Amino acid sequence: ARPVLSVRDLRVEYHTDTGVVRAVNGISFDLMPGERMGLVGESGSGKSTVALALMRMIRRPGRIAGGQLLLDGTDLVPLPERAMRARRAREIAMIPQGAMNSLNPVARIEDQIIDTLEDHSDGRTSKRALLDRAREALESVGLRREVGRMYPHELSGGMKQRACIAIAVAMRPKVVIADEPTSALDVVVQRQVMDTIVRLQQELQVAVILIGHDMGLMAQSVDRLAVMYAGKLAELSPIRDIFAEPLHPYTDLLIESLPKLEDRGTFRGIPGLPPSLKSLPPGCLFHPRCPRVMDVCRTTVPAYREHRPNQFAACHLHEEHHGEADH
Ligand code: SF4
Ligand code: MG
Repeated sequence: ARPVLSVRDLRVEYHTDTGVVRAVNGISFDLMPGERMGLVGESGSGKSTVALALMRMIRRPGRIAGGQLLLDGTDLVPLPERAMRARRAREIAMIPQGAMNSLNPVARIEDQIIDTLEDHSDGRTSKRALLDRAREALESVGLRREVGRMYPHELSGGMKQRACIAIAVAMRPKVVIADEPTSALDVVVQRQVMDTIVRLQQELQVAVILIGHDMGLMAQSVDRLAVMYAGKLAELSPIRDIFAEPLHPYTDLLIESLPKLEDRGTFRGIPGLPPSLKSLPPGCLFHPRCPRVMDVCRTTVPAYREHRPNQFAACHLHEEHHGEADH
């Protein structure tokens, strides 16, 4: 199968008074149709910026400074805004961080879905057909159609989040990006929202990019996991492999820092801080914090490559001439 989305050397920069912030510093990956890919990293690692870039919604003083975003073979980067607008929601949609708090409090849920459908359809679809589509969307996220008649304040947090997912999938996009869809929800509800996302993929064959920081929740919900560090991908591997045999020392630390059983969630116990994106260290960006740092790491940027089948990482440990990590 062909990837539905191919990201090639994506770069996003913010120009500020005190310098250029390289928020996304050359990342590449493929997303297959119907695939669920997780994207994790500490806050400020660039996850949400990737999401906004994929939607072509980076605002000044930021800009996409390079790379390609191939959606079904069409590069979104050079598209005029008008053409991009036609693809947003229809082909690629996002559930922004905190979306459930920005539902319109004075509009019924189904009207909010219909508004999205109207914004993005040709204007020739009947009200009746739009209502049917809205109800279908609600059903696809496991909400009863009566929920459509309700206002946001009548819904629990989990239902609100599912309503946001319904809005995002109403146009049947090929790719949905969910930015921290479970933050601010309790553990049981988090699980329900994740189940909803898994179900979407099964029912609608939509590919999902799930942004978060809970490795434990990701482990049960995605096919592959991408680990971001300081605007780059440290590793991208199938979920089983990433827990069994992570390639990158940072991934290792994230897994080790996973709280056992209760109180899952945050990255703890990783010594040091991520670098300032305004003054990145030379060589490997992770070298100041890496327990396995070597001389070469301080001077030479490790290439991001496929070191094992379907396991990509940027780390000198896996280069031939430092073969210590291989067997
Ligand atoms: Fe650590 Fe070197 Fe690998 Fe960077 S390249 S993660 S510093 S071992
Ligand atoms: Mg974020």
